[in-house]
Amino acid sequence: MKARLDCDYVQCMVPPERHQICAAKQIGYCWGPLGHQHTPKRSQGGKACWVMLCAGHADMIDNGVKTAGLRLKDEVIVWPNDEDEPSNYVIRDRNTDEILRSIEL
Ligand SMILES: [Zn+2]
Ligand SMILES: [Zn+2]
Repeated sequence: MKARLDCDYVQCMVPPERHQICAAKQIGYCWGPLGHQHTPKRSQGGKACWVMLCAGHADMIDNGVKTAGLRLKDEVIVWPNDEDEPSNYVIRDRNTDEILRSIEL
């Protein structure tokens, strides 16, 4: 289900209601411009973007930058039965694996 949106980013799957908002905004503070977040990382074959992240949170997640004692990672969960149908975008604490944020896709 391709999001209907005035966005010309070819790999954008971010629905309009999430397009102007950092997906990690509940986790620490945001800084920098919003960008399309490839999950997994583009360098690891990520082809679609399901959320937007601010530059600060993208750096924390993609590069493991530690901020206020917290290191983050993200993941798109796909249920085994539903081949390519993604279920949730989650952000976890790298140290404890705790899910800090889960967004239904
Ligand atoms: Zn977009
Ligand atoms: Zn942010």
